[in-house]
Amino acid sequence: MIKIDFEDTRTAFNIKSDRDLRRAYALFTLISYPILVKIGNPVIKVLSALRIPIGWIVKPTAFKHFVGGSTLEECQPAVAKLKTANVWSILDYSVEGKESEKAIQAALEETLRAVKNAGSNPDIPFTVFKPTAFGSHKALEILSGATEPSPEIKEEGEKFYHRIDTLCKTAFDNDIPIMIDAEETYIQNFIDQVVMDMMRKYNKEKCIVFNTYQMYRHDRIAILENDIKAAWEEKFFLGAKFVRGAYMERERARAAKMGYEDPIQPDRESTDHDYNLALKISMDNIDVLTIFNGTHNEYSSQYLAELMIEKLMDPADKRIWFSQLYGMSEHISFNLAAAGFNVAKYVPYGPVRFVLPYLMRRVEENTSVKGQTGRELSLIKKERQRRKNENR
Ligand SMILES: Cc1cc2nc3c(=O)[nH]c(=O)nc-3n(C[C@H](O)[C@H](O)[C@H](O)COP(=O)(O)OP(=O)(O)OC[C@H]3O[C@@H](n4cnc5c(N)ncnc54)[C@H](O)[C@@H]3O)c2cc1C
Repeated sequence: MIKIDFEDTRTAFNIKSDRDLRRAYALFTLISYPILVKIGNPVIKVLSALRIPIGWIVKPTAFKHFVGGSTLEECQPAVAKLKTANVWSILDYSVEGKESEKAIQAALEETLRAVKNAGSNPDIPFTVFKPTAFGSHKALEILSGATEPSPEIKEEGEKFYHRIDTLCKTAFDNDIPIMIDAEETYIQNFIDQVVMDMMRKYNKEKCIVFNTYQMYRHDRIAILENDIKAAWEEKFFLGAKFVRGAYMERERARAAKMGYEDPIQPDRESTDHDYNLALKISMDNIDVLTIFNGTHNEYSSQYLAELMIEKLMDPADKRIWFSQLYGMSEHISFNLAAAGFNVAKYVPYGPVRFVLPYLMRRVEENTSVKGQTGRELSLIKKERQRRKNENR
């Protein structure tokens, strides 16, 4: 059994200069203080809402570390650099929660541009979008079963469907797989229905469209099993991106406030259990699906690699992908890539103001997820020390 050595910091940080490491160290140290994040995030939000320029604070710090650039073109150096270490990129136009027709149209045009760009760049194996960029929360909630939809809401639903179809068809025409991110539970039912329709339409010969399964939800194993059954019976390929889920606190607070059953697993162990079970179930059905393992969890990354080895699969088999976010868990990405596995980083891009919600989530996640910042910091520290010793 090969063991991926996630402690190999030379490989993990090989493409990072001493200066890059110094900057990363300073950033993770700063966001390891919850009090700074607690004060800093709302201040930045208010400044941004007041249209007070914040680029000068955010751009050289969190933006530089977690974001590829403001435009597709600006991301190109990051894409090329990652590829020197055999790591692919997935450029993610990180605009969230824009609800006016004009903003939706602009997001659609930019995402279509990203799809075509991916189709013509061999270093970019997938494209991705957040469905909330293409429909209002209100409409998605009602269409997910909250209440009976009015004719206006039905019309909004049709527009949403048409936009998603346009994106998936463009991905199909450009032969580039497309992933649809998962969002909050109360709007996800309708998104799931639309994405399954897209798979039936565009995944007849191979996986083009991918849905996202958030394994912190206690109902997702049953849904995955249903979807796999449908894929076998109706003869299409299932694109399955797995994540644990990013909105736990919000989901729990909403369920408590509105008095419905918490959609989230009762504890961390149950999430971990279902996450790894989903990987196992998918591997047992690998002839009908493609797995995208979106996690910074070392065990879940190692576990999938082991399942592949057990099955005597080539690590470079294109039905299995590992993915981490740009600027995070380099020890997983670069060590897996060095061992020959398919690794792609999610590289967000967009104007500073637009990517703020994404950045805030990264900063909060690194503060609140127990151990994550500590792990990043200790690995950066270890590599800086290793380089120092080497130069002595
Ligand atoms: C490539 C990629 C794509 C992503 N796309 C999406 C997406 O489309 N939608 C989305 O929602 N998120 C997405 N995420 C974020 C993801 O859902 C997680 O928030 C993040 O990756 C942390 O989970 P982990 O497995 O990496 O790390 P870990 O540190 O192993 O797990 C932390 C996660 O465990 C879960 N958890 C922690 N405590 C508990 C508890 N007490 N009870 C139950 N569960 C608990 C939570 O989900 C928490 O985020 C993506 C992440 C990556 C790497």
